[in-house]
Amino acid sequence: MSSATAKENHWRPAYVGLGSNLQGPAGQLDSAFDLLGAIPHTRLIRRSSLYRSAPFGGVEQPDFVNAAASLLTQLGARPLLEALQRIEIQRGREREDVRWGPRVLDLDLLVYGRDEIEEPGLIVPHPGIAERNFVLLPLREIAPGLMIPGLGQLATISVNMDEPKISRIA
Ligand code: ATP
Ligand code: CA
Ligand code: CA
Repeated sequence: MSSATAKENHWRPAYVGLGSNLQGPAGQLDSAFDLLGAIPHTRLIRRSSLYRSAPFGGVEQPDFVNAAASLLTQLGARPLLEALQRIEIQRGREREDVRWGPRVLDLDLLVYGRDEIEEPGLIVPHPGIAERNFVLLPLREIAPGLMIPGLGQLATISVNMDEPKISRIA
């Protein structure tokens, strides 16, 4: 067994949030889904529609396109995050980009099995799930019955009415 894989090579469900607002965001997300499916020891199971949302965090920048993906993976949470970060870099993401600033591709590990992880550089479930409609709505589309560790049923988490509206584009 490779040290990168989780205990006993179990296949774990994992959920990834995708975002882009540079260099053809919809196309960026399409190729990102393919790259997620090509991660070793990992299968792409479902991809959500694409959603358009106004930027978050007060930085003046183009609208974002967001989506969510479900995976089955034999990788542990940390090696999976590292694989996501390698894809971001491969697509031209500059690591020094401002937080919540414009980016070619952002891949966040939203949920990893039933694990609750709080380590330097890795927090799972991702805090954005309950706070951001552009995370919540695509995830709900592909996994309406999902139980979020520490938060409860995804279906019972309410949409944040104070945020700008997001719309499904494809
Ligand atoms: P946010 O995490 O609030 O959505 P962001 O996506 O803009 O903000 P990044 O600049 O992409 O933030 O990442 C900042 C750091 O977040 C990364 O270095 C990474 O180690 C850390 N991080 C912690 N938990 C996670 C997670 N579940 N998924 C992705 N990155 C995470
Ligand atoms: Ca993010
Ligand atoms: Ca991120």
